[in-house]
Amino acid sequence: MPKPFVQLVDLQAQYLTIKDEIDSAIKRVVESGSFILGQEVVSFETEFAAYCDAKHCVACANGTDALTLLLQAVGVGASDEVITVSHTFFATIEAIISLGATPVFVDVEESTLLMDVSTLESAITPRTRAIVVVHLYGQMVNMRAVMTVAQRHGLRVVEDAAQAHGARHAGTPPGTLSDGATFSFYPGKNLGAYGDAGAIVTKNDDVASMVRRLRDHGRSDKYEHLIVGRNSRMDAIQAAILRVKLQKLDEWNLRRSALARLYDEALRHLPVRLPTVAAASEAVHHLYVVRVRDRDDVLARMRGDGIGVGVHYPLPVHLQPALRRHPGAHVTLATTELAATRILSLPLYPELASDQLERTVSALERATSRPQSGRT
Ligand SMILES: *Cc1c(COP(=O)(O)O)cnc(C)c1O
Repeated sequence: MPKPFVQLVDLQAQYLTIKDEIDSAIKRVVESGSFILGQEVVSFETEFAAYCDAKHCVACANGTDALTLLLQAVGVGASDEVITVSHTFFATIEAIISLGATPVFVDVEESTLLMDVSTLESAITPRTRAIVVVHLYGQMVNMRAVMTVAQRHGLRVVEDAAQAHGARHAGTPPGTLSDGATFSFYPGKNLGAYGDAGAIVTKNDDVASMVRRLRDHGRSDKYEHLIVGRNSRMDAIQAAILRVKLQKLDEWNLRRSALARLYDEALRHLPVRLPTVAAASEAVHHLYVVRVRDRDDVLARMRGDGIGVGVHYPLPVHLQPALRRHPGAHVTLATTELAATRILSLPLYPELASDQLERTVSALERATSRPQSGRT
């Protein structure tokens, strides 16, 4: 009998470890009859702000909205330029473009695949309004370095921390030094809801109250609308689930780190490039991303061997069909473009068992040692 598939993430395995708490949290909300915002969401906001060492947390409907609303609250709008990376999930750029602003792409560092901060200054023009930093794969960009450049040029800074719940750089979590950070609680993220959800954290009172207003139709009270906002509210059921899971997040992140170290050790002798974590960084290993030659071949062989590998992301944002006629997209980003052909995400989630990790390692070993197919 073939062994069961090793999934990239296994949300059912995690549910089984917290089933009683989750079930009673959902029941509590259903019995309360309060389904949108309300006390459950306020409690989550308080608890998540404390977790992030942040003054404010404002919950909203998803991570894309969180980024859009935070950018809007710091004043990004039509005809502004926003500097960011192309090696990210498409949503980072949707947030910028949906406000009428233009993304200006800088390349990533070869070692970490995070924003190359040394190239920021050369991307600044008189129209530059903000920088969107992306803490990809669970590792933070060096925010002190980013803030030095931003302060010199009077730019706003927003952190897309959708993959970095609990990460730190030089002891500092996302959202501390900048105008704020945004989180996604998409089910597969380190802290995931059972549906869509997101949040912003910030130390700035005005930014927090602006996002709070924007996420709920620009309301001041039930029937007075001060500005045109949108509906981006968090469901109480998602807040209740997130409150249960937030209690486990540090333990889960530690387990991810331990698994990442096991991968590091087991893969050391294979012809693959292992992920790099910078010295001052405490990563939370949202994804374990190696780089291999003949990636598509290796990927197909591993899937054939029952391993759920993935690619985050196969086509950089500036090369996406949706941006073909976009002014910001006509750039060459050598490191980003090469990385997209080599990166491979291995299964990694707190409940991954050691035999599943070993099967993944052996499959990668086979996939990289067999003679390559005749194609060149
Ligand atoms: C998941 C993700 C988002 C979008 O979050 P949603 O909750 O799916 O809208 C944005 N940026 C990055 C880097 C992400 O990984």
